Amino acid sequence: MNAFCTPGGYIYIYTGILKFLDSEDEFAGVLAHEIGHADMRHSTRQMTKMYGTQMLLDAIAGDKAMIKQLTAGIINLKFSRSHESEADQKSVDYLCPTDYNADGGAGFFEKIQAVGGSSTPEFLSTHPDPGNRIEHFHSAAIASGCQGRNSYTTEFKAMISKLP
Ligand SMILES: [Zn+2]
Repeated sequence: MNAFCTPGGYIYIYTGILKFLDSEDEFAGVLAHEIGHADMRHSTRQMTKMYGTQMLLDAIAGDKAMIKQLTAGIINLKFSRSHESEADQKSVDYLCPTDYNADGGAGFFEKIQAVGGSSTPEFLSTHPDPGNRIEHFHSAAIASGCQGRNSYTTEFKAMISKLP
C-alpha cells in the first residue's frame, strides 16, 4: 500500500491503496496530497538534500548505477512533517472548488487509525500523528468554506471491482 510522487511530477498510486479506500473523495484527497507534493517540488528538494546536486546531475546524464539508487530512494522518500502538512493543505485547496468533500483525505487517516496503523504508506512516513492530520483536513475545509459534500462511494466501488 503506497503512493508517491517523483521529481518531474509523476504520481504513482499502488492498487493496495485503491482497495483500502472506500470512496472517490478519499481517493481524490490522496491524489491531491501527492499533487501537492509535486506542486511544491518536495521530491526534488528532498532528493537534493539526500543525495546532493552532483548525484542528481549524474543521474540526469544517464549514469545507470545512480539512476538505480535514486529510483529506490524515490520509492522510500521520506518527507518532513512540514512537507506533509503543506501537501495536506494543498489537498484541501485543490478539492475545495469541486463537489467532493474537500477533506476527503481525512477519510484515509480515519481508516488507518481504525486498523491500528499497521501499514506505513508514504502519507504516514513521517511522525505526524494521524489524529492531528484528520483534524487539520477538517479545519482547513471549514476555514476555506468548502461546499462540496459528495463521496461517490458507489461509483468508486464499481471502479475498484474492475481492478485485477
Ligand atoms: Zn505526503
